[in-house]
Amino acid sequence: MQMQSVSSFDALSPSYDLIVIGGGITGAGIVHEAARSGASVLLVEQGDFASGTSSASSKLVHGGLRYLAHGQWRLTLESVRERNQLLRSRGGLVERQPFLMPVYRGAKPSLATLRAGLAVYDLMGGQWASRRVSAARALQLEPGLRSDDLLGAVVYDDAATDDARLVLRLIFEATAAGATALNYTRVNELLCADGRVCGVALQDVDSGTSREVQARVVVNAAGVESGRLAPQTAVAGAPAPALRPLRGSHLLFPLQRLPVTRAVGWLHSRDGRPIFVYPWQGVALYGTTDVDHASDDPLRLSRQEAEYLLEGLAHQFPSVRLTLDDALSSYAGVRPIVAGGKSDPSAESRESAQWSAPGYIGVTGGKLTTFRVTARQVLRAAAIQHPPLAVRAGKTFQASSSRSIARYGSAFDQWLNTDATADDRLDIAGTPYCWGELRWALLHERVKHLDDLLLRRTRLGLLLPQGGEILLPRIAGLCQEMLGWDAARREAETTGYIQLWQQRHAPVQA
Ligand code: FAD
Repeated sequence: MQMQSVSSFDALSPSYDLIVIGGGITGAGIVHEAARSGASVLLVEQGDFASGTSSASSKLVHGGLRYLAHGQWRLTLESVRERNQLLRSRGGLVERQPFLMPVYRGAKPSLATLRAGLAVYDLMGGQWASRRVSAARALQLEPGLRSDDLLGAVVYDDAATDDARLVLRLIFEATAAGATALNYTRVNELLCADGRVCGVALQDVDSGTSREVQARVVVNAAGVESGRLAPQTAVAGAPAPALRPLRGSHLLFPLQRLPVTRAVGWLHSRDGRPIFVYPWQGVALYGTTDVDHASDDPLRLSRQEAEYLLEGLAHQFPSVRLTLDDALSSYAGVRPIVAGGKSDPSAESRESAQWSAPGYIGVTGGKLTTFRVTARQVLRAAAIQHPPLAVRAGKTFQASSSRSIARYGSAFDQWLNTDATADDRLDIAGTPYCWGELRWALLHERVKHLDDLLLRRTRLGLLLPQGGEILLPRIAGLCQEMLGWDAARREAETTGYIQLWQQRHAPVQA
């Protein structure tokens, strides 16, 4: 039987077994696992679900070949295993992504180094998926590659996903299993009593209404903001680790302008950092950078990052000659990295960290790929404090390999085949989406603002020129009809979305 989940602030219970703060991949993974325990679980997210770092990643579900180079063996092994598991259980949402790394005479990494690294990678993944190809074959596979001094390439397999959609699936599967998840609900304070954290002070971001909710255990999965939520009164326990927020930015180009057929990875000619480009949702996704991010830095691709990325591209694909004017969009995200004191940001560990106090567990760092591992570690720690939160063995959610079921669940497929209109079944030109996906999201996926729909329920705002401006009248009209907006709200949402897109996603700064 499907349980009825609470979807409004006013209907919240006075207390829960577990409250999770943060609706990114970490919080979503925890609530997804916790929902299986039968305990009462609440997740709260101050913005939209996945509106933090978890919609701004490189979208790779990968072991991270480069982490091997930094000696992070455990992280790589864990990630490769998780990648394989997610390919099996989330086919259609997490998909195989072939990679090619060209090798050049006299340049790093050498063929021997790469092959040794990939042999370890393959061994960890339990498959022999990597091999060497000749220079002629590499150019046949990717004709745009720089050909001078090309010795050949290695090819291997990893995986990619739609990061925001993965978060949304986990959250909606959890709510279908009885958990409660609210977006636009902020935790202003951790409540403490008798030397332990006992709940949270919540605020409905849209109405401003506040209330307190009790919990046996509170988990802080607030990403780069996790340090801001310390218990207000004295509770004994380990403090949150210092974070080193590192920004990473990406550019998206039309695939016709940067026609790659697989992921191509190489080292940037300036500093030897790994960068890559791959076909994602019909465009070429290119990144990324790794730079210190101050709290007052704008969350967008900076001019310096843009120059760095374009320089790297020109070196590896000399004939494509792309500028920022050719890009469709950009995005930037901030990695919640635990500060390790390294001078090179890219040498900082990507492992997750946990800290705790009575009634309270904090978790940060980590990767999108390893969300299940992190979730289980957190719940094991939570169960020590409150045994009903113990992780259940086995899986509860059915594996699927169709794109639409993997993204929206089987009810969507059924609806599209029975109740949807002919218009719903029409494709949105130049994208992998159909109009029905927008209507479904508006009906069932807690859309509150236009950017929720265009940047996370779908990624149309990143894939279409000018954030999909040409479609805004129709899409805002759909929102007005289905969400009950009046004309003023529709106008305000449209203007707000265009401003947000210009500030965060326009490739060229106005
Ligand atoms: P977030 O996604 O930031 O979620 C935290 C949430 O908490 C936010 O949505 C925030 O709004 C909310 N919050 C904060 N304070 C409050 C509050 N007071 N009340 C309520 N809610 C609150 N990993 C991979 O595996 N593969 C990759 O390819 C990859 N590429 C990356 C590329 C870049 C550029 C970056 C930045 C990261 C990348 N990562 C990748 C890492 C991965 O994206 C992050 O580790 C992961 O998304 C972090 O998730 P999170 O849930 O901890 O944080």
